Amino acid sequence: MFTSISGRSVLVTGGTKGIGRGLAAAFAAEGASVVIVGRDRGAGERAAAELAASGKVAFEQGDVASAASCAAVVAAAQERHGGLDIVCCNAGVFPSAPLAEMTPEQLEEVLATNLKGTFFTVQAALPALERSGHGRVILTSSITGPITGFSGWTHYGASKAGQLGFMRSAALELAKRGITVNAVLPGNVMTEGLADMGADYIATMEASIPLKHLGSIEDIANAALFLATDEAAYITAQTIVIDGGQIVPESLEAMD
Ligand code: NAP
Repeated sequence: MFTSISGRSVLVTGGTKGIGRGLAAAFAAEGASVVIVGRDRGAGERAAAELAASGKVAFEQGDVASAASCAAVVAAAQERHGGLDIVCCNAGVFPSAPLAEMTPEQLEEVLATNLKGTFFTVQAALPALERSGHGRVILTSSITGPITGFSGWTHYGASKAGQLGFMRSAALELAKRGITVNAVLPGNVMTEGLADMGADYIATMEASIPLKHLGSIEDIANAALFLATDEAAYITAQTIVIDGGQIVPESLEAMD
């Protein structure tokens, strides 16, 4: 579809499951060389082996909450594929915790993974992205935080809105290095992580989406793929909402 993806080196954090796995599959299918990152080695190696059917995919174990781990993973991706052109900061967690009971540890887990992980990954990748000449950073944010809210997710919403604050200033700083920084904002996408939210959550979400079904990992990957192409070279600091229209209705009746 997009010829400029072929041969590019791509790093996808949280690429072993869910949306990240969809991103990895899409980039690999377009001829990119992909490194996926996650904490669970067994799951990561299995995912890479399965994804190898779509193209060139390798696993590196890493924890985005650690700056040292991000540096090691970025170095490994460069060594494996001779450089790094596209970084997808996708690793994220979304445990629920009511504000009144949230512990500092619970807050730290979400901010460290979702927000600080974005900083650490991009910081580690900067020299390689600049050398690439067409460096791309694509963040997986969310509608939750930047646009909508959900009880139990104050920490998560803050982390996802924080990614967009990061994106706008990073895009300005990195423009002179030829690097663009953009974000996809998924609504509710059927992933392993979302399945853990339970059947009631999923049914409520389906009812509040105008298109009446959850998104797929391919829906998100298609938008990310576009932002990574040469054709999208003039787009930076922008967001694409991919949510089946979920953020639009004022009420359930508004969809009748
Ligand atoms: P998922 O199915 O739970 O997968 C999460 C991925 O992130 C896994 O590969 C996981 O692997 C990795 N990960 C988690 N913590 C990590 C860490 N500290 N270091 C490295 N990797 C880590 O989640 P998902 O639903 O695909 O969500 C992916 C992203 O999309 C998240 O940023 C999420 O906030 C965002 N999002 C999802 C939805 C949705 O509806 N699913 C909607 C909006 C936004 P390990 O556990 O092995 O580390």
